[in-house]
Amino acid sequence: MSDVTSFINGLSVDSDESYNNIDPSTGAIIGTVAKADAELVDLAVRTARTAFDGGWRESSPEVRSTLLCRLADLIDANREELAVMESEDTGKPLTQARTDATVCARYFRFYGHTIEAFYGITIPLTPDFHVYTRREPHGVAGAIIAWNYPMQLLGRAVAPALATGNCSVLKPADETPRSAVRIAELAIEAGFAPGVFNVITGLGPETGQLLSEHPGIDHLGFVGSTEVGKRIAAQAAERVIPVVLELGGKSPHIVFADADLEQAALFITKGILQNAGQTCSAGSRLIVHKDVKDELLELLVAKFEAVTIGAGGDDKDLGPLVSVKQQNRVRTFVDEAEGTILTGGTVPAGFEAGAFYSPTLIADVDPASKIAQQEVFGPVLVAMEFETEEEAVAMANSTDYALMAAIWTRDVSRVHRLAAKVEAGQVYVNAYGAGGGVELPFGGFKKSGYGREKGYEALAGYTQTKTVAIKL
Ligand code: NAP
Ligand code: MG
Repeated sequence: MSDVTSFINGLSVDSDESYNNIDPSTGAIIGTVAKADAELVDLAVRTARTAFDGGWRESSPEVRSTLLCRLADLIDANREELAVMESEDTGKPLTQARTDATVCARYFRFYGHTIEAFYGITIPLTPDFHVYTRREPHGVAGAIIAWNYPMQLLGRAVAPALATGNCSVLKPADETPRSAVRIAELAIEAGFAPGVFNVITGLGPETGQLLSEHPGIDHLGFVGSTEVGKRIAAQAAERVIPVVLELGGKSPHIVFADADLEQAALFITKGILQNAGQTCSAGSRLIVHKDVKDELLELLVAKFEAVTIGAGGDDKDLGPLVSVKQQNRVRTFVDEAEGTILTGGTVPAGFEAGAFYSPTLIADVDPASKIAQQEVFGPVLVAMEFETEEEAVAMANSTDYALMAAIWTRDVSRVHRLAAKVEAGQVYVNAYGAGGGVELPFGGFKKSGYGREKGYEALAGYTQTKTVAIKL
């Protein structure tokens, strides 16, 4: 029996084949994970369909609300267990893993509440017509999520899907299968009917692809790399089903000379070092006015060098990257970069056994170079300078990505001018909320993806509008 298995129709279901789950802090094998094959993926999708047709689609918002809120309570009650397994699987500091569990619970509670106030409308067409709209679920929602914030990504995909009356089949990333399986078990404890929420474990190119290609899937949500996201969108297009893509970013902080530099340095540091920089909305580019460049960089170097490092369970500021594969990717990016490494650029001494990488700040980077354009997904910040506002905007908008941005200035007119001109799904001013908040619509412009998760807006994404026109 594998240590971690798929969870379908309220039951653990093992597979003949498995892979090893690795602790990135030590490189040790911490268990085996079942690889769901075509038969199991098919079973999960058919089970979800049966649950959908067998009552979930017709369930009242009140019933769904009660169950979602109960699941939120159970996630809160089991926070420590969930946080420890997540910290082991990802390497992230325990405190950050606890936050992930809390935010996951918050998604279930938020959609548990909002679904009770999510309606169609009546349209006063003409006196002899009664016209109204219904918001109907799609059916079976497939979700394929990344390893960086597994519980948060699960919450923001599964909670609105279930709230709106869809059933769900989720494939977690191979690195982080355990929290998803545990939350699916908790859903049964909360009272969800078996089959409403199912989890299949396995590898992306096998189990993941089987899910994204399955003809029984009616809606697909994906969080991960642009490369895989493009393929998934093509498969969805083939079957004409809606897809939400969240593909990461290269989000800029634009810092003007009148900014509160101490405050900016604080947020910039957290925004790139949280979760070791493995955050789709990490602020990974610093675009700073030349007059305050040296001062801000000095503040940042001091903050980067004060960071404490340790295994996830040691709960320091910075844990390892999720895997040696990810560490090699970050190392290659930095080694190939041109510019001045002000701090970092190495594996921290004494941490060679795990997948660690030190907080890294590179200045004088060419805005067109690879490290300024592509997502590193590590604790690496690149800095470039500007003189005019136009130059800053052009630089900010110069990458293929456009997920999030921050503007640091005390000039209120400039704030509004730039908030409109900067391309991003979320713009922060004199603050930076990597992760972006449960209540706030979140998603990309350009190659950061399309569709919106989070907030009230996600409810629209998980439903299709039906207009009913009745001649009186
Ligand atoms: P990835 O390969 O795109 O994986 C994301 C998810 O897709 C995982 O669940 C993965 O499963 C699955 N998957 C992989 N190949 C698939 C396929 N052919 N069909 C269906 N599903 C498939 O991302 P990654 O390798 O974990 O990370 C690579 C890069 O992606 C990172 O360095 C980073 O730049 C970016 N990334 C972005 C985000 C974000 O939040 N936007 C998150 C993570 C990664 P397995 O894990 O089992 O392979
Ligand atoms: Mg993976």
